[in-house]
Amino acid sequence: MRVLKFGGTSLADAERFSRAADIIVSNQGQSDVSAVLSAPAKVTNILVSVVDNTVKHGEAELPLKELESLFTDLFHGLAERQPNLDTQPLFDKLTRSLGQLRQYVHGMSLLGLCPDSTYARVVSKGERLSVAAMHALLEARGYAVFDIDPVNYFAASGSYLSAEVDIEASSQRFKQSPIPEKHIGLMPGFMAGNENGELVTLGRNGSDYSAAVLAACVRAECCEIWTDVDGVYNCDPRLVPDARLLKSLSYQEAMELSYFGAKSCILKPLRQLPGSIFLA
Ligand code: ASP
Ligand code: MG
Repeated sequence: MRVLKFGGTSLADAERFSRAADIIVSNQGQSDVSAVLSAPAKVTNILVSVVDNTVKHGEAELPLKELESLFTDLFHGLAERQPNLDTQPLFDKLTRSLGQLRQYVHGMSLLGLCPDSTYARVVSKGERLSVAAMHALLEARGYAVFDIDPVNYFAASGSYLSAEVDIEASSQRFKQSPIPEKHIGLMPGFMAGNENGELVTLGRNGSDYSAAVLAACVRAECCEIWTDVDGVYNCDPRLVPDARLLKSLSYQEAMELSYFGAKSCILKPLRQLPGSIFLA
């Protein structure tokens, strides 16, 4: 089994979604594959503003409309690329998700606050829609797909918003209900289930952790985290237009970068200052 993870920027629109599907399918030729998906870019932040707007102003129509148009564009874009894709179930799912979100908004506006358990359910909606879209796309391409629901498979404990997964207990669940052979497994990242079977999240950017946990549970031969940049840059290419791709990086340097949280680090050009990192 190979585990592949695609983050939000790799699923930002129909073109990128299709490219992620191509990568999943080409890996499926080598051995069985499971893919862990994030919400499309921006979606989790929009869901966070659904909560924030509701708690502050008692309503969240603007971010809800934004979500609706973002997924509507995505589904139409996928159907253009894959004409036999039936978008009706996707739009039905989107309608149901928006309906649930409006119910949460109603509840939160009455309370004037958002309990953590509700917050977890709201902010994890994007991952589920990603999986629904990828499921439809892969089935339209003729592949058998198995949905892995992390609320059932990942046994977690701790807080609702930053839970930890028990790998031993979760591995047992995969042994009891294995991913069927010759199926592509699809799992929404970022979430798990607690001892009461309630949905919990694994913290912001938790989908990498989801992928690592899935790989450990199924004893995968590899876990690949796919991203939309060509490698490690000397600074954030979204902020610095002439950011340079580094030709090489030692393990030590990579460890230092991850230790300091790569996104907030600038690596000085290696030729001038080998191995030095500076916090931005
Ligand atoms: N979508 C979640 C987030 O933006 C989890 C993830 O993408 O890793 O934090
Ligand atoms: Mg990420």
